Amino acid sequence: MSREIRKLIPNPKSRFLGVKCLNCGNEQIIFGCASTKVVCRVCGKPLTQSTGGKANILTKILEVLT
Ligand SMILES: [Zn+2]
Repeated sequence: MSREIRKLIPNPKSRFLGVKCLNCGNEQIIFGCASTKVVCRVCGKPLTQSTGGKANILTKILEVLT
């Protein structure tokens, strides 16, 4: 008899985030676990930084969209 213990880990990064650019105030929706760098549509300022698969959010998060 084998028993498998599963850990259900919610991944808070795999959702969409509403962020605001600190540079120009533009608001846009980004994917929270984007593996590529996301830049502001208006001024081109980096909003996320890709660090080995995980995205570092470099700007202000306004809301998390599930
Ligand atoms: Zn901007």
